[in-house]
Amino acid sequence: MATHTTKMLIIGSGPAGLSAAIYGARAGMQPIVVQGLQPGGQLTITTDVENYPGFRDVIQGPWLMQEMQAQAEHVGTRMLWDTIVEVDMSGSPFRAIGDGGDIYEGDTLVIATGAQARWLGAPGEQEFSGKGVSACATCDGFFYRGKKVVVIGGGNTAVEEALYLTNHSQDVTLIHRRDSLRAEKILQDRLFAHPNIKVLWNKAVERFVGEGGLTGVELKDTVTGEIMVEPADGAFVAIGHAPATDLFKGKLELDSSGYIVVEPGTPKTAIPGVFACGDVMDHTYRQAVTAAGTGCMAALDAERFVANREFAARG
Ligand code: FAD
Ligand code: NAP
Repeated sequence: MATHTTKMLIIGSGPAGLSAAIYGARAGMQPIVVQGLQPGGQLTITTDVENYPGFRDVIQGPWLMQEMQAQAEHVGTRMLWDTIVEVDMSGSPFRAIGDGGDIYEGDTLVIATGAQARWLGAPGEQEFSGKGVSACATCDGFFYRGKKVVVIGGGNTAVEEALYLTNHSQDVTLIHRRDSLRAEKILQDRLFAHPNIKVLWNKAVERFVGEGGLTGVELKDTVTGEIMVEPADGAFVAIGHAPATDLFKGKLELDSSGYIVVEPGTPKTAIPGVFACGDVMDHTYRQAVTAAGTGCMAALDAERFVANREFAARG
């Protein structure tokens, strides 16, 4: 068991954590990134990424994250492969404990643990993930230009995804397990008024069907039990996200969906020296580039926190 100390401890190695590391390392903060169970974060489970700035051609998610990590290491970040199981944020240095017992101490703490899309768990969902099944219309909608797509869910996200998909497809179907939506009325009004969206009520997904790629979803009527197949080239699962914030329950303020609450427009939590960036504090945008942007902000604020403290200590 070892103790690792740094001016900037970063939990999470997705775009937010690695961007914080790049800025922190270049500012002399000698950051440590604890990578967690998914080194590189969510983009490592996708294929084509077409909206991360700087690349004219489609790039691969895992490749982008390897490059980000290489850049972070190149400028002086220490990448450590561990998962944090406990944090003590009672004062700086902040303390985290890895699952093997290693201790991490940081003058500042940057939380970049991300969020995971909730999946239905229906047969075929993982098999066709990236080959027709997606949890992000903003990310993957473009690949379904002129094709038939379905969205599963009845909340704000599902309705927004259905509306967004009409930018690419003239044939969008929203599938919901009940006979009324949970989404806000204004979004429902837009949905019902859209000529290219139809809604299938009281339908639960039994399985995703296809060969090589998705061709449809098998649905069961939740009232009559009747089975039908809705043809689809793309299926967008939009039943919510789960931010990775269990570690921080009772220690930081979380909103009603479990996301870390920050001072609006900043990555600052209520604890001076503790910052949150990326999907773990953002249930609206949830993009690689926004995660990277808030990661940068967290590093700049962490650097200022340390500089102010050193200045005050000098008297
Ligand atoms: P994440 O990428 O979720 O990373 C979280 C990190 O925290 C991981 O490294 C994890 O191991 C670590 N972690 C969690 N808990 C712990 C712990 N206890 N201890 C240590 N580490 C921990 N966005 C786009 O902009 N364009 C796209 O094309 C696109 N496609 C996508 C496709 C898919 C299939 C998915 C799921 C998402 C896609 N996104 C896309 C969204 C994008 O991936 C996320 O917005 C982005 O990854 C969020 O970055 P993050 O750094 O906040 O968190
Ligand atoms: P949500 O509000 O929790 O809605 C999830 C939807 O998925 C519900 O309709 C639910 O059905 C359905 N669902 C859940 N599990 C399912 C399953 N196993 N099978 C089939 N359907 C399932 O999630 P969200 O839409 O992602 O929104 C999360 C939070 O972010 C909310 O607070 C929301 O208001 C907010 N948000 C706001 C905006 C905005 O302000 N523009 C945009 C997006 C999200 P039931 O209805 O039957 O439970």
